[in-house]
Amino acid sequence: MSLKSRNAVVTGSTSGIGLCIARALAAEGANILINGFGDPAAVEAERAKIEADFGVKCLYDGADMSKPAEIAAMIKHAEDELGSCDILVNNAGIQFVAPIEEFPIEKWDQIIAINLSSAFHAIRAAMPGMKARKWGRIVNTASAHSKVASPFKSAYVTAKHGLDGLSKTAALELATFGVTSNCISPGYVWTPLVEKQIPDTMAARHLTKEQVINDVLLHAQPTKEFVTVDQVAALAVFLCSDAAAQITGANISIDGGWTAE
Ligand code: NAD
Repeated sequence: MSLKSRNAVVTGSTSGIGLCIARALAAEGANILINGFGDPAAVEAERAKIEADFGVKCLYDGADMSKPAEIAAMIKHAEDELGSCDILVNNAGIQFVAPIEEFPIEKWDQIIAINLSSAFHAIRAAMPGMKARKWGRIVNTASAHSKVASPFKSAYVTAKHGLDGLSKTAALELATFGVTSNCISPGYVWTPLVEKQIPDTMAARHLTKEQVINDVLLHAQPTKEFVTVDQVAALAVFLCSDAAAQITGANISIDGGWTAE
């Protein structure tokens, strides 16, 4: 499969899952616009590495996914400098954990904006070009929490369920234009973010590393193994292929069996 001559925007791609998806799409030949926060020198190093490793063009846009005007400008940036936005991966996301009655209102608003509304604004801006070219792929990084809830994650669970609804709606509106829209829904993915939580949890709960991994982090995941960023990226790349042209409006779990229970 080749994505040569395709241009992809991946939001929240300065680290973790998004960076791995950006690199996997570049490995298939797609030009990339990466987005997200981070130390400018480190972001520039990742951008340059994508160009050097895969021989594609890679742009960086620091649009804040909580700002609708910046999101629209980011899509225009890709269209102006790469020529189009053929693939849109809505991946930026944050988390906050607290009981509903103590959940800070500004955290609720921020999570709904970054994890849900940003995808609406990006799809809205990218849709006209995809429809005109009669080809497009929208991949939304949802979560097992787009299908089931957990306590204390009200904003995240709500945003991810909403993202599934938005993705399905886009799929129906784009169905006759050669454009697909799908969610990928990981369980726990081994990212530096997760890895960094382990020592603190070991100390706070007086547990061994194995107990933290199996009884706390992977409690919900029957395989008792983390999903890897490479596995998530491979699924995203497959959804961008021609073989996946009839997969649209789907929400594909990659969660070690979590949502089968
Ligand atoms: P991460 O923290 O490593 O990456 C998040 C990315 O989003 C970073 O590039 C960050 O800079 C960017 N970002 C955050 N706020 C932003 C904003 N306002 N504007 C622009 N960019 C912003 O996290 P990750 O684990 O790679 O998560 C990526 C996505 O995968 C998220 O949507 C998350 O909900 C989802 N997810 C993660 C897991 C997991 O276990 N790690 C599981 C299921 C779903």
